[in-house]
Amino acid sequence: MRRLQFLLLLVLPLLAAADAEPVLRTVTDAPGGVASDSSDELYCDGWRLSVETGNAGPWRAIPSRCLGFVRAYMEGERYASDSAVAAADSLAFAEQALALASREVGGARPAWVFDIDETLLSNAPYYAVNGWGSQEFNETSFDEWVDVAEAPALPSSLKLYKELQGLGIHIILLTGRSEFQRNVTQVNLSFAGYHSWEKLILRQSPDIGKTAVQYKSERRAALEAEGFKILGNSGDQWSDLLGLPMATRSFKLPNPMWSAAADVKRLVLLALDSKRSEEHLGVFLAIVLLQGPGARREFDNRSAATPWPLRSFNLVM
Ligand SMILES: [Mg+2]
Repeated sequence: MRRLQFLLLLVLPLLAAADAEPVLRTVTDAPGGVASDSSDELYCDGWRLSVETGNAGPWRAIPSRCLGFVRAYMEGERYASDSAVAAADSLAFAEQALALASREVGGARPAWVFDIDETLLSNAPYYAVNGWGSQEFNETSFDEWVDVAEAPALPSSLKLYKELQGLGIHIILLTGRSEFQRNVTQVNLSFAGYHSWEKLILRQSPDIGKTAVQYKSERRAALEAEGFKILGNSGDQWSDLLGLPMATRSFKLPNPMWSAAADVKRLVLLALDSKRSEEHLGVFLAIVLLQGPGARREFDNRSAATPWPLRSFNLVM
């Protein structure tokens, strides 16, 4: 009898283990990837992660069930908190990279590139009265807002900006705004507390029609040719960060309100034309992150084999 009890003690846990699946069960295991009983908040939190990591690819509108979520995110503490975490990571990296650069990069001038809108400046007052990104982007009304030149600073970015200056890093402002907006942009930056930048780079006439990735990559290349070593790059769109040359490290700031989706079609065409040319690898990497299924099919049709994955997905670890 004791032997039987002993055997049962050995066998029962094994039977139980055999019944269990060796996978982590979560609410997102439901068909379609989203639990049918999940709250809007749960879904929208996942949607936001997908947007910020680039998993969502190009997207044109906030899901209607997430409008309240985005408003609460932007108006509450989470937007500021997420931005502050990104800024703290940026500063920690800058201190580390600066120490390395001073040993490894001879006379190159250490630099940090900042995008402006939704990176240094917050246009939240504009979006608050324009549906927090739920309405189709209206360039005319946005430019009118830009002309007011009273967009406030994103507080954590202003803090980081000053800390980087304190470290002796050259500040480069690289924006998708156009040259005709230089004056109002300078006025607004000063209004928000930004001073003493090294360069303010805006789109010139020849840049019209270029994708953000192409335009910003070209300007980073020019900066490197001038002798800057771009340690960091901060932007709220992947198109601020992708393309060669890249900064030593790039920092994606949160923005659940809109994506630079309009660039994607042109990016795909550029990649199709350049395919395996190494100098266009940066453009291709942008496609890897941003393209949708239709673009992938188009690429497959025109390129029988490619050495690169067509799209990468970030997972929560
Ligand atoms: Mg921006």
